[in-house]
Amino acid sequence: MNLAALRPCSFVDWPGRIAAVAFTQGCNLACRYCHNPGLVPLRGGGRVSEEEVLSLLEARRGRLDGLVVTGGEPTLQPALPRFLARVKERGFAVKLDTNGTRPEVVEALLAAGLVDHLAVDLKATPDDATWLTGSEAQPRGARRCLELALARGVAHEVRTTLASPVHRPEALDELAGWARGAQLWAIQRFRPGGHLDPRSGLAPPGDALLAAAREAAAAHGLALRVR
Ligand code: SF4
Repeated sequence: MNLAALRPCSFVDWPGRIAAVAFTQGCNLACRYCHNPGLVPLRGGGRVSEEEVLSLLEARRGRLDGLVVTGGEPTLQPALPRFLARVKERGFAVKLDTNGTRPEVVEALLAAGLVDHLAVDLKATPDDATWLTGSEAQPRGARRCLELALARGVAHEVRTTLASPVHRPEALDELAGWARGAQLWAIQRFRPGGHLDPRSGLAPPGDALLAAAREAAAAHGLALRVR
């Protein structure tokens, strides 16, 4: 595993649980709003070993519920299945954050019982996702990941960072449709500063956009959490 950082304890990365957070290096998207630009390059990282993560979990046994693996994009790591198995063997739960571009990897992890909670990013509608992420993989891959979690009965959430003007109030109903059936649609407000593309013109979502998200969630029967 190419790990770039380790947060020993978090109360917010896995709501309802106390978890350590391991950050993988490298991502296959280049989201203009990314707040972890240092984790996007495939090269670099290597600042934390698997052994350090496992030692931390052991040292905090009884005080930590599990481990959140985030990135970067964790599914790019060839060693991810073996690493998660080592965490699970020690009795710790695993939450996996993914950008939804590699459903085939997610499928294998879920089939092996290595993920207790899947958080999948839903970036934007097809019309907007390519500009926002630099890839055409969204949102179809995210939908596939969600369907895999639903089929396996794995706890999950779909996450969207809302930013203006790429997210438009009139497109929120379509976006919510990609999340239909999800246990939770977690919306995070974009906050400018330190993000990947400071020239993108992205701004925090306004009241109209947030209201459109609430309306769309209600129309699609989605539980909504706005942060
Ligand atoms: S926000 Fe986008 S570019 Fe940044 S780590 Fe997540 S998926 Fe990768």
